Amino acid sequence: MTEKDVLIIGGGAAGFFAAINIAEQNPKLKVAILERGKEVLTKVKVSGGGRCNVTHAEFIPQELVLNYPRGEKELLGPFHQFMTGDTIDWFEKRGVALKIEDDGRMFPTTDSSQTIIDCFLNEAKKHKVAVLMNHAVKSIQKESEAFVVDTNQGVFTSKKVLIATGNNPKIWKLLEDLGHTISSPVPSLFTFNIKDERIQDIPGVVVNNVLVKVADSALESSGPLLITHWGMSAPAILKLSAFGALELAKRDYKFKIVINFINTSFEDCLDILKELKLELAKKTVYKSAQFDVPKRLWQKLVLASKMDHETRWADLNKDQLETLASQLTQAIFNVDGKSTFKEEFVTAGGVELKEVNFKTFESKLVPQLYFAGEVLNIDAVTGGFNFQNAWTSAYLAAQSMSR
Ligand SMILES: Cc1cc2nc3c(=O)[nH]c(=O)nc-3n(C[C@H](O)[C@H](O)[C@H](O)COP(=O)(O)OP(=O)(O)OC[C@H]3O[C@@H](n4cnc5c(N)ncnc54)[C@H](O)[C@@H]3O)c2cc1C
Repeated sequence: MTEKDVLIIGGGAAGFFAAINIAEQNPKLKVAILERGKEVLTKVKVSGGGRCNVTHAEFIPQELVLNYPRGEKELLGPFHQFMTGDTIDWFEKRGVALKIEDDGRMFPTTDSSQTIIDCFLNEAKKHKVAVLMNHAVKSIQKESEAFVVDTNQGVFTSKKVLIATGNNPKIWKLLEDLGHTISSPVPSLFTFNIKDERIQDIPGVVVNNVLVKVADSALESSGPLLITHWGMSAPAILKLSAFGALELAKRDYKFKIVINFINTSFEDCLDILKELKLELAKKTVYKSAQFDVPKRLWQKLVLASKMDHETRWADLNKDQLETLASQLTQAIFNVDGKSTFKEEFVTAGGVELKEVNFKTFESKLVPQLYFAGEVLNIDAVTGGFNFQNAWTSAYLAAQSMSR
Protein backbone atom coordinates (compact mmCIF):
# COMPACT_ATOMS: atom_id res chain seq x y z
CA MET A 1 0.00 0.00 0.00
CA THR A 2 1.45 3.37 -1.05
CA GLU A 3 0.55 6.46 0.95
CA LYS A 4 0.30 9.91 -0.63
CA ASP A 5 -1.03 13.26 0.61
CA VAL A 6 -2.84 13.97 -2.65
CA LEU A 7 -3.86 11.59 -5.43
CA ILE A 8 -4.79 12.92 -8.83
CA ILE A 9 -6.64 10.40 -10.97
CA GLY A 10 -6.08 11.13 -14.66
CA GLY A 11 -2.96 12.52 -16.35
CA GLY A 12 -4.69 14.87 -18.76
CA ALA A 13 -4.92 18.66 -18.94
CA ALA A 14 -6.85 19.11 -15.68
CA GLY A 15 -4.87 16.48 -13.76
CA PHE A 16 -1.48 18.00 -14.61
CA PHE A 17 -2.58 21.58 -14.03
CA ALA A 18 -3.92 20.65 -10.59
CA ALA A 19 -0.93 18.51 -9.59
CA ILE A 20 1.62 21.19 -10.52
CA ASN A 21 -0.26 23.94 -8.71
CA ILE A 22 -0.75 21.84 -5.56
CA ALA A 23 2.91 20.83 -5.42
CA GLU A 24 4.02 24.40 -6.07
CA GLN A 25 1.70 25.95 -3.49
CA ASN A 26 2.59 23.38 -0.82
CA PRO A 27 5.94 21.67 -1.50
CA LYS A 28 5.55 19.52 1.62
CA LEU A 29 2.76 17.47 0.09
CA LYS A 30 3.44 14.15 -1.63
CA VAL A 31 1.45 14.43 -4.87
CA ALA A 32 0.96 11.61 -7.39
CA ILE A 33 -0.85 11.39 -10.71
CA LEU A 34 -2.34 7.99 -11.56
CA GLU A 35 -2.73 7.62 -15.33
CA ARG A 36 -4.14 4.48 -16.92
CA GLY A 37 -2.41 4.99 -20.30
CA LYS A 38 1.22 4.42 -21.21
CA GLU A 39 1.39 8.12 -22.07
CA VAL A 40 0.05 11.27 -20.44
CA LEU A 41 -1.59 14.37 -21.96
CA THR A 42 -2.67 12.52 -25.10
CA LYS A 43 -5.61 14.83 -25.79
CA VAL A 44 -3.45 17.91 -25.34
CA LYS A 45 -1.14 16.41 -27.96
CA VAL A 46 -3.85 16.13 -30.65
CA SER A 47 -5.79 19.22 -29.57
CA GLY A 48 -6.41 22.09 -31.94
CA GLY A 49 -5.12 20.09 -34.89
CA GLY A 50 -1.79 19.51 -33.07
CA ARG A 51 -1.43 23.20 -32.16
CA CYS A 52 -3.38 23.17 -28.83
CA ASN A 53 -5.94 25.94 -28.62
CA VAL A 54 -5.07 26.72 -24.98
CA THR A 55 -7.66 29.40 -24.25
CA HIS A 56 -9.63 32.25 -25.81
CA ALA A 57 -9.05 36.01 -25.81
CA GLU A 58 -12.27 36.77 -23.94
CA PHE A 59 -11.52 38.66 -20.74
CA ILE A 60 -14.98 39.39 -19.32
CA PRO A 61 -16.32 36.55 -17.14
CA GLN A 62 -19.97 37.36 -18.00
CA GLU A 63 -19.15 37.03 -21.71
CA LEU A 64 -16.87 34.02 -21.29
CA VAL A 65 -19.58 31.91 -19.59
CA LEU A 66 -21.89 32.33 -22.61
CA ASN A 67 -19.70 29.81 -24.42
CA TYR A 68 -20.66 26.99 -22.03
CA PRO A 69 -23.97 25.25 -22.88
CA ARG A 70 -23.48 23.29 -19.66
CA GLY A 71 -21.75 25.17 -16.84
CA GLU A 72 -22.69 28.75 -17.74
CA LYS A 73 -24.15 29.61 -14.34
CA GLU A 74 -21.70 27.61 -12.25
CA LEU A 75 -18.49 28.90 -13.89
CA LEU A 76 -19.20 32.60 -13.37
CA GLY A 77 -17.82 32.61 -9.79
CA PRO A 78 -14.77 30.46 -10.64
CA PHE A 79 -13.91 32.69 -13.63
CA HIS A 80 -13.78 35.65 -11.27
CA GLN A 81 -11.03 33.72 -9.44
CA PHE A 82 -9.06 32.27 -12.36
CA MET A 83 -9.68 33.62 -15.85
CA THR A 84 -8.25 33.44 -19.34
CA GLY A 85 -5.83 36.26 -18.44
CA ASP A 86 -4.55 34.15 -15.52
CA THR A 87 -4.01 31.23 -17.91
CA ILE A 88 -1.93 33.45 -20.20
CA ASP A 89 0.12 34.69 -17.20
CA TRP A 90 0.55 31.17 -15.84
CA PHE A 91 2.07 29.90 -19.07
CA GLU A 92 4.08 33.05 -19.70
CA LYS A 93 5.72 32.81 -16.24
CA ARG A 94 6.79 29.30 -17.19
CA GLY A 95 8.29 30.33 -20.51
CA VAL A 96 5.34 29.59 -22.82
CA ALA A 97 4.18 32.60 -24.84
CA LEU A 98 0.68 32.48 -26.34
CA LYS A 99 -0.62 34.35 -29.39
CA ILE A 100 -4.10 35.44 -30.39
CA GLU A 101 -5.58 34.57 -33.79
CA ASP A 102 -8.13 36.76 -35.60
CA ASP A 103 -11.08 34.76 -34.26
CA GLY A 104 -9.85 35.04 -30.63
CA ARG A 105 -8.39 31.53 -30.30
CA MET A 106 -5.05 31.41 -28.45
CA PHE A 107 -2.20 29.04 -29.27
CA PRO A 108 1.44 28.71 -28.18
CA THR A 109 3.58 30.89 -30.46
CA THR A 110 5.35 27.69 -31.50
CA ASP A 111 2.06 26.39 -33.00
CA SER A 112 2.86 23.06 -31.37
CA SER A 113 0.98 21.27 -28.58
CA GLN A 114 4.30 19.68 -27.60
CA THR A 115 5.29 23.05 -26.08
CA ILE A 116 2.43 22.73 -23.58
CA ILE A 117 3.27 19.09 -22.86
CA ASP A 118 6.97 19.89 -22.31
CA CYS A 119 6.01 22.73 -19.96
CA PHE A 120 3.78 20.42 -17.89
CA LEU A 121 6.34 17.60 -17.75
CA ASN A 122 9.13 19.99 -16.69
CA GLU A 123 6.98 21.64 -14.04
CA ALA A 124 5.81 18.28 -12.68
CA LYS A 125 9.43 17.13 -12.42
CA LYS A 126 10.58 20.40 -10.85
CA HIS A 127 7.91 20.16 -8.16
CA LYS A 128 8.44 16.43 -7.57
CA VAL A 129 5.02 15.26 -8.70
CA ALA A 130 5.07 11.47 -9.14
CA VAL A 131 3.63 10.68 -12.57
CA LEU A 132 2.62 7.02 -12.56
CA MET A 133 1.64 5.71 -15.97
CA ASN A 134 -0.03 2.35 -16.65
CA HIS A 135 -1.93 2.81 -13.39
CA ALA A 136 -5.61 2.26 -14.16
CA VAL A 137 -7.87 3.05 -11.22
CA LYS A 138 -10.35 0.24 -10.57
CA SER A 139 -12.04 1.33 -7.35
CA ILE A 140 -12.23 4.30 -5.00
CA GLN A 141 -13.40 3.86 -1.45
CA LYS A 142 -13.57 6.20 1.50
CA GLU A 143 -12.48 4.52 4.73
CA SER A 144 -12.78 6.76 7.81
CA GLU A 145 -10.37 9.65 7.08
CA ALA A 146 -8.67 8.37 3.92
CA PHE A 147 -9.45 7.22 0.41
CA VAL A 148 -8.34 3.79 -0.68
CA VAL A 149 -7.70 3.73 -4.42
CA ASP A 150 -7.12 0.37 -6.06
CA THR A 151 -5.19 0.26 -9.34
CA ASN A 152 -3.92 -2.54 -11.55
CA GLN A 153 -0.51 -1.92 -9.94
CA GLY A 154 -1.40 -1.87 -6.26
CA VAL A 155 -3.35 0.07 -3.68
CA PHE A 156 -2.83 3.76 -2.84
CA THR A 157 -4.17 5.72 0.11
CA SER A 158 -4.59 9.46 0.44
CA LYS A 159 -6.60 11.99 2.41
CA LYS A 160 -7.45 13.97 -0.71
CA VAL A 161 -8.38 12.78 -4.18
CA LEU A 162 -8.97 14.77 -7.36
CA ILE A 163 -10.91 13.09 -10.16
CA ALA A 164 -9.66 14.39 -13.52
CA THR A 165 -10.51 11.44 -15.73
CA GLY A 166 -12.35 13.27 -18.50
CA ASN A 167 -15.24 11.34 -19.98
CA ASN A 168 -14.50 7.82 -18.74
CA PRO A 169 -17.75 5.86 -18.10
CA LYS A 170 -16.04 3.44 -15.68
CA ILE A 171 -15.03 6.29 -13.37
CA TRP A 172 -18.53 7.80 -13.59
CA LYS A 173 -19.83 4.41 -12.40
CA LEU A 174 -17.42 4.47 -9.42
CA LEU A 175 -18.62 8.00 -8.63
CA GLU A 176 -22.22 6.80 -8.70
CA ASP A 177 -21.25 4.14 -6.17
CA LEU A 178 -19.92 6.98 -3.98
CA GLY A 179 -23.34 8.63 -4.16
CA HIS A 180 -22.93 11.06 -7.09
CA THR A 181 -25.42 11.51 -9.92
CA ILE A 182 -24.09 11.39 -13.47
CA SER A 183 -25.99 13.06 -16.32
CA SER A 184 -25.94 10.75 -19.31
CA PRO A 185 -23.09 11.42 -21.71
CA VAL A 186 -23.86 12.50 -25.29
CA PRO A 187 -21.47 13.87 -27.91
CA SER A 188 -21.05 17.61 -28.37
CA LEU A 189 -19.18 19.59 -31.07
CA PHE A 190 -19.98 17.67 -34.25
CA THR A 191 -20.69 18.54 -37.86
CA PHE A 192 -23.97 17.89 -39.71
CA ASN A 193 -24.33 15.26 -42.45
CA ILE A 194 -26.43 16.63 -45.30
CA LYS A 195 -26.95 15.17 -48.76
CA ASP A 196 -28.37 17.89 -50.98
CA GLU A 197 -27.85 18.94 -54.58
CA ARG A 198 -27.37 22.57 -53.46
CA ILE A 199 -24.14 21.77 -51.62
CA GLN A 200 -22.93 18.84 -53.68
CA ASP A 201 -19.46 19.09 -55.24
CA ILE A 202 -18.64 22.46 -53.64
CA PRO A 203 -16.66 21.45 -50.51
CA GLY A 204 -14.50 24.22 -49.11
CA VAL A 205 -17.02 26.99 -49.80
CA VAL A 206 -17.26 29.32 -46.79
CA VAL A 207 -20.10 31.77 -46.12
CA ASN A 208 -18.90 34.36 -43.64
CA ASN A 209 -21.97 35.03 -41.55
CA VAL A 210 -25.09 32.90 -41.75
CA LEU A 211 -28.03 32.44 -39.41
CA VAL A 212 -28.99 28.78 -38.84
CA LYS A 213 -32.14 27.62 -37.05
CA VAL A 214 -33.25 24.11 -36.18
CA ALA A 215 -36.84 23.73 -37.41
CA ASP A 216 -39.49 23.21 -34.67
CA SER A 217 -37.03 24.29 -31.97
CA ALA A 218 -35.68 27.41 -30.28
CA LEU A 219 -32.14 26.42 -31.27
CA GLU A 220 -30.35 28.91 -33.50
CA SER A 221 -26.85 30.25 -34.05
CA SER A 222 -24.87 32.49 -36.34
CA GLY A 223 -21.33 32.71 -37.66
CA PRO A 224 -19.20 31.29 -40.46
CA LEU A 225 -20.47 28.21 -42.30
CA LEU A 226 -18.28 25.74 -44.20
CA ILE A 227 -19.58 23.33 -46.83
CA THR A 228 -17.80 19.98 -46.54
CA HIS A 229 -17.79 16.70 -48.47
CA TRP A 230 -20.39 15.33 -46.05
CA GLY A 231 -22.47 18.36 -45.17
CA MET A 232 -21.81 21.47 -43.12
CA SER A 233 -19.33 22.57 -40.44
CA ALA A 234 -17.65 25.69 -38.93
CA PRO A 235 -18.78 27.76 -35.91
CA ALA A 236 -22.41 28.34 -36.99
CA ILE A 237 -22.94 24.55 -37.06
CA LEU A 238 -20.62 23.60 -34.18
CA LYS A 239 -22.35 26.04 -31.82
CA LEU A 240 -25.71 24.44 -32.67
CA SER A 241 -24.22 20.99 -32.05
CA ALA A 242 -23.03 22.08 -28.60
CA PHE A 243 -26.10 24.02 -27.47
CA GLY A 244 -28.37 21.37 -29.01
CA ALA A 245 -26.33 18.34 -27.87
CA LEU A 246 -29.16 16.83 -25.81
CA GLU A 247 -32.05 17.82 -28.06
CA LEU A 248 -30.35 16.66 -31.26
CA ALA A 249 -29.37 13.34 -29.63
CA LYS A 250 -33.05 12.82 -28.73
CA ARG A 251 -33.93 13.38 -32.40
CA ASP A 252 -31.29 10.78 -33.33
CA TYR A 253 -29.51 13.48 -35.37
CA LYS A 254 -32.34 13.66 -37.92
CA PHE A 255 -33.84 17.14 -38.23
CA LYS A 256 -34.34 20.08 -40.55
CA ILE A 257 -32.33 23.32 -40.47
CA VAL A 258 -33.30 26.64 -41.98
CA ILE A 259 -30.39 28.78 -43.21
CA ASN A 260 -30.33 32.48 -43.94
CA PHE A 261 -27.17 32.80 -46.04
CA ILE A 262 -27.25 36.60 -46.26
CA ASN A 263 -28.52 37.76 -42.85
CA THR A 264 -31.26 39.80 -44.54
CA SER A 265 -35.02 39.31 -44.25
CA PHE A 266 -36.96 37.59 -47.05
CA GLU A 267 -38.85 40.83 -47.79
CA ASP A 268 -35.71 43.01 -47.99
CA CYS A 269 -33.99 40.40 -50.12
CA LEU A 270 -36.97 40.31 -52.51
CA ASP A 271 -36.92 44.11 -52.83
CA ILE A 272 -33.20 44.04 -53.67
CA LEU A 273 -33.72 41.24 -56.23
CA LYS A 274 -36.44 43.33 -57.90
CA GLU A 275 -34.01 46.24 -58.22
CA LEU A 276 -31.32 43.92 -59.61
CA LYS A 277 -33.84 42.68 -62.19
CA LEU A 278 -33.83 46.21 -63.61
CA GLU A 279 -30.16 47.03 -63.08
CA LEU A 280 -28.71 43.80 -64.45
CA ALA A 281 -31.51 43.12 -66.97
CA LYS A 282 -29.36 41.68 -69.75
CA LYS A 283 -27.02 39.65 -67.58
CA THR A 284 -27.60 35.99 -66.66
CA VAL A 285 -28.57 35.43 -63.04
CA TYR A 286 -26.31 32.37 -62.85
CA LYS A 287 -23.19 34.40 -63.53
CA SER A 288 -23.91 37.44 -61.38
CA ALA A 289 -23.47 36.42 -57.74
CA GLN A 290 -24.84 38.94 -55.21
CA PHE A 291 -24.94 39.58 -51.44
CA ASP A 292 -21.32 38.36 -51.05
CA VAL A 293 -22.56 34.79 -51.54
CA PRO A 294 -19.61 32.72 -52.85
CA LYS A 295 -20.01 32.18 -56.59
CA ARG A 296 -20.25 28.38 -56.51
CA LEU A 297 -22.98 28.44 -53.86
CA TRP A 298 -24.85 31.26 -55.62
CA GLN A 299 -24.96 29.17 -58.81
CA LYS A 300 -26.37 26.17 -56.93
CA LEU A 301 -29.05 28.33 -55.29
CA VAL A 302 -29.97 29.88 -58.66
CA LEU A 303 -30.41 26.44 -60.24
CA ALA A 304 -32.59 25.43 -57.27
CA SER A 305 -34.84 28.46 -57.99
CA LYS A 306 -36.61 27.29 -61.14
CA MET A 307 -33.99 28.83 -63.47
CA ASP A 308 -31.30 27.49 -65.77
CA HIS A 309 -27.80 28.71 -66.67
CA GLU A 310 -29.15 31.12 -69.30
CA THR A 311 -32.01 32.81 -67.46
CA ARG A 312 -31.58 36.59 -67.58
CA TRP A 313 -32.51 38.98 -64.79
CA ALA A 314 -35.05 40.74 -67.05
CA ASP A 315 -36.92 37.45 -67.64
CA LEU A 316 -37.46 36.62 -63.97
CA ASN A 317 -41.12 36.21 -63.03
CA LYS A 318 -42.58 36.75 -59.55
CA ASP A 319 -42.38 33.07 -58.66
CA GLN A 320 -38.68 32.82 -59.61
CA LEU A 321 -37.81 36.00 -57.69
CA GLU A 322 -39.59 34.71 -54.59
CA THR A 323 -38.00 31.29 -54.87
CA LEU A 324 -34.51 32.80 -55.12
CA ALA A 325 -35.21 35.10 -52.14
CA SER A 326 -36.37 32.04 -50.24
CA GLN A 327 -33.25 30.01 -51.15
CA LEU A 328 -31.08 32.89 -49.96
CA THR A 329 -32.87 33.66 -46.70
CA GLN A 330 -34.76 30.53 -45.59
CA ALA A 331 -33.22 27.54 -47.31
CA ILE A 332 -34.31 24.27 -45.71
CA PHE A 333 -31.85 21.36 -45.48
CA ASN A 334 -32.40 17.87 -44.06
CA VAL A 335 -29.71 16.79 -41.59
CA ASP A 336 -29.26 13.03 -41.44
CA GLY A 337 -26.56 12.08 -38.94
CA LYS A 338 -23.40 13.70 -37.62
CA SER A 339 -19.63 13.46 -38.15
CA THR A 340 -16.70 14.05 -35.82
CA PHE A 341 -15.18 17.51 -35.87
CA LYS A 342 -11.54 16.46 -35.84
CA GLU A 343 -10.02 19.62 -34.34
CA GLU A 344 -11.96 19.41 -31.08
CA PHE A 345 -14.73 17.33 -29.58
CA VAL A 346 -16.12 16.84 -26.12
CA THR A 347 -18.83 15.01 -24.23
CA ALA A 348 -21.84 16.67 -22.68
CA GLY A 349 -22.71 14.93 -19.41
CA GLY A 350 -20.85 14.00 -16.26
CA VAL A 351 -21.00 14.74 -12.54
CA GLU A 352 -24.15 16.74 -11.74
CA LEU A 353 -23.17 20.32 -10.99
CA LYS A 354 -25.49 20.79 -8.02
CA GLU A 355 -23.41 18.20 -6.16
CA VAL A 356 -20.21 20.29 -6.43
CA ASN A 357 -19.02 23.32 -4.44
CA PHE A 358 -17.88 25.78 -7.12
CA LYS A 359 -15.65 27.75 -4.74
CA THR A 360 -13.33 24.76 -4.37
CA PHE A 361 -14.59 22.10 -6.83
CA GLU A 362 -15.00 19.77 -3.86
CA SER A 363 -17.81 17.23 -3.77
CA LYS A 364 -20.74 18.32 -1.60
CA LEU A 365 -21.40 14.64 -0.86
CA VAL A 366 -17.94 13.19 -0.17
CA PRO A 367 -15.57 15.51 1.74
CA GLN A 368 -12.01 15.79 0.33
CA LEU A 369 -13.09 14.42 -3.06
CA TYR A 370 -12.53 17.00 -5.81
CA PHE A 371 -13.30 17.24 -9.55
CA ALA A 372 -11.69 19.11 -12.46
CA GLY A 373 -12.17 19.20 -16.21
CA GLU A 374 -14.47 17.21 -18.41
CA VAL A 375 -15.49 14.68 -15.71
CA LEU A 376 -17.98 17.38 -14.66
CA ASN A 377 -21.16 18.07 -16.63
CA ILE A 378 -19.48 21.11 -18.22
CA ASP A 379 -18.58 21.60 -21.85
CA ALA A 380 -18.13 24.47 -24.25
CA VAL A 381 -18.26 25.47 -27.88
CA THR A 382 -15.04 25.22 -29.87
CA GLY A 383 -12.36 27.91 -29.43
CA GLY A 384 -10.23 27.06 -26.37
CA PHE A 385 -13.07 27.21 -23.84
CA ASN A 386 -12.95 23.52 -22.95
CA PHE A 387 -9.33 23.79 -21.84
CA GLN A 388 -10.15 27.00 -19.94
CA ASN A 389 -12.66 24.97 -17.92
CA ALA A 390 -9.90 22.42 -17.19
CA TRP A 391 -7.44 25.16 -16.07
CA THR A 392 -9.95 27.05 -13.91
CA SER A 393 -11.42 24.01 -12.17
CA ALA A 394 -7.98 22.47 -11.61
CA TYR A 395 -6.53 25.72 -10.26
CA LEU A 396 -9.33 26.29 -7.75
CA ALA A 397 -9.31 22.65 -6.66
CA ALA A 398 -5.52 22.93 -6.22
CA GLN A 399 -5.86 26.03 -4.02
CA SER A 400 -8.18 24.17 -1.69
CA MET A 401 -6.32 20.85 -1.77
CA SER A 402 -2.92 22.38 -1.05
CA ARG A 403 -4.13 23.94 2.20
C1 LIG B 1 -9.25 15.78 -30.87
C2 LIG B 1 -9.55 16.78 -29.79
C3 LIG B 1 -9.06 18.05 -29.90
C4 LIG B 1 -9.36 19.01 -28.90
N1 LIG B 1 -8.85 20.26 -29.04
C5 LIG B 1 -9.14 21.21 -28.10
C6 LIG B 1 -8.59 22.51 -28.17
O1 LIG B 1 -7.79 22.82 -29.06
N2 LIG B 1 -8.98 23.42 -27.23
C7 LIG B 1 -9.82 23.09 -26.19
O2 LIG B 1 -10.13 23.96 -25.38
N3 LIG B 1 -10.30 21.85 -26.06
C8 LIG B 1 -9.97 20.89 -26.98
N4 LIG B 1 -10.45 19.62 -26.84
C9 LIG B 1 -11.19 19.29 -25.62
C10 LIG B 1 -10.16 19.07 -24.48
O3 LIG B 1 -9.16 18.20 -24.97
C11 LIG B 1 -10.82 18.47 -23.25
O4 LIG B 1 -11.85 19.30 -22.82
C12 LIG B 1 -9.75 18.34 -22.15
O5 LIG B 1 -8.72 17.49 -22.57
C13 LIG B 1 -10.36 17.80 -20.88
O6 LIG B 1 -9.31 17.62 -19.97
P1 LIG B 1 -9.43 16.57 -18.80
O7 LIG B 1 -8.12 16.59 -18.09
O8 LIG B 1 -10.67 16.79 -18.05
O9 LIG B 1 -9.61 15.15 -19.53
P2 LIG B 1 -8.62 14.36 -20.48
O10 LIG B 1 -7.73 15.27 -21.19
O11 LIG B 1 -9.50 13.45 -21.27
O12 LIG B 1 -7.73 13.51 -19.48
C14 LIG B 1 -8.26 12.44 -18.71
C15 LIG B 1 -7.13 11.47 -18.39
O13 LIG B 1 -7.60 10.54 -17.42
C16 LIG B 1 -7.12 9.27 -17.76
N5 LIG B 1 -7.99 8.26 -17.16
C17 LIG B 1 -9.27 7.97 -17.49
N6 LIG B 1 -9.73 6.97 -16.73
C18 LIG B 1 -8.72 6.59 -15.90
C19 LIG B 1 -8.59 5.59 -14.89
N7 LIG B 1 -9.57 4.75 -14.60
N8 LIG B 1 -7.42 5.52 -14.22
C20 LIG B 1 -6.38 6.36 -14.52
N9 LIG B 1 -6.45 7.30 -15.47
C21 LIG B 1 -7.60 7.42 -16.16
C22 LIG B 1 -7.17 9.28 -19.29
O14 LIG B 1 -6.36 8.26 -19.84
C23 LIG B 1 -6.69 10.68 -19.60
O15 LIG B 1 -5.29 10.75 -19.73
C24 LIG B 1 -10.16 18.64 -27.79
C25 LIG B 1 -10.63 17.34 -27.68
C26 LIG B 1 -10.33 16.40 -28.65
C27 LIG B 1 -10.84 15.00 -28.50
